[in-house]
Amino acid sequence: MIDRPTVLEIEGLCVELSINGRWIPALNEVNLTIRRGETLGLIGESGSGKSLTALSVPGLLPGNARVTGGSIRLLGEELLGKQEHELNKLRSRSVALVFQNPTTYLNPVLTIGQQIAEIFEVSPELLGPGRMSKRERRRIAQEKAVEYLRLVKIPDPERTVRQYPFELSGGMQQRTVIAMGLVRQPHLVIADEITTALDVTIQAQILGLLTELRRSIDMTLLLITHDMGIVAQLADSVAVMYSGSVIEYADVRSLFRAPKHPYAKALLEAVPTLQAGDTIFRPIPGGIPAITDPPPGCRYHPRCSRAFAPCSVTVPAPVPPEPGRVVACHLYQAAS
Ligand code: SF4
Repeated sequence: MIDRPTVLEIEGLCVELSINGRWIPALNEVNLTIRRGETLGLIGESGSGKSLTALSVPGLLPGNARVTGGSIRLLGEELLGKQEHELNKLRSRSVALVFQNPTTYLNPVLTIGQQIAEIFEVSPELLGPGRMSKRERRRIAQEKAVEYLRLVKIPDPERTVRQYPFELSGGMQQRTVIAMGLVRQPHLVIADEITTALDVTIQAQILGLLTELRRSIDMTLLLITHDMGIVAQLADSVAVMYSGSVIEYADVRSLFRAPKHPYAKALLEAVPTLQAGDTIFRPIPGGIPAITDPPPGCRYHPRCSRAFAPCSVTVPAPVPPEPGRVVACHLYQAAS
C-alpha cells in the first residue's frame, strides 16, 4: 500500500460555520491521506466533523460554511480556490458521493436505465472514443447501464434498467446509487453512512459488495461511519475525529489492537459486547461539546478519565508516538 500513488491529501484543513451571525471554527487543522485502492475510515460521534470534512473535498459545504485554511489535493491537484465550473467537472468525473438514503438521490419518475443514461449525456466520453449516432449512443448507454448494475451484483440487471426506483428494495436502491457513482470511473468514492438506513442483512450485503469492489476495481474509498464494526471490516486506516479535529490516526489493526487516545479507547469500549450471555455497555459519559462553546485546552478533557493539569489549559498538538500513527493528547506529548 505504501508505494501506491496518493489519491487524496488533506492538509491543515480549517472550516468555519456561521452561527447566529458569528463565524465559529468547525474543523481545526484536519490532515488525511488516502492512497489508491485504500479505504480510510473516518469515525466519531455525530457532530465531530466527519461529514463536513468529506463535503469539503468536492466543494459541497453548506451555504453557512467557509474554508479558512489548509489544502485539499486530489491526485496532486489543489481543489481549494477552484471555480464552480471546475468543481462541477470534478464532481461529475473524479469524485463519487454515496449517501445514506438512496431514495433521496434517485428520481422517482425516471427508470434506472434513464437515470444512468443521463450520466452519459453529461459525459459522452464515457461511452467510448469517436463520433456516434444518437441511436448508437442510446444502445451503448443501455449496455453500460446493465454492465454497471451487474458490477454491483444486481440480479437481472436487464430488467432493473426498465424499473422505477419504487420497484426496488432499499438494498437494491443503494446498489443502484453506487453503480451510478462508479459509471463515472471516479478516482475517489466518498461513502457517508451508507448502511445506516438499511437492515442488518442488507447492510452485510452492501459491505460485502464494497469489499469486492475494492478488489475488482481497486476502488479508493473514504468511508464515513460511526459503526466500529464497519471500519474493522473494510478500512485499512482510521482517522478518529472529535469536535472538529482528528485526535488519532492509525492503521486499522493498530487502532483496534491498542488505541492510544483516551477517546478512541472509550469509543472502542462503548461497542456493546456479549459476556456470559449479558450485553455489556460502557457508554462514554457526557456529550460532545457544542462548537459554539468548546471547553479550553483539550476538548475531550471534561469527559476524560485520564485528564491532568495541562489538559484544561493547552490544546494538545498531534504527535507521532510511533511511525505511521498520530495522536493529539498530552499523555503522548509528555513522552515524545
Ligand atoms: Fe485526556 Fe488530556 Fe489526553 Fe485530552 S489531552 S485526551 S484530556 S489525557
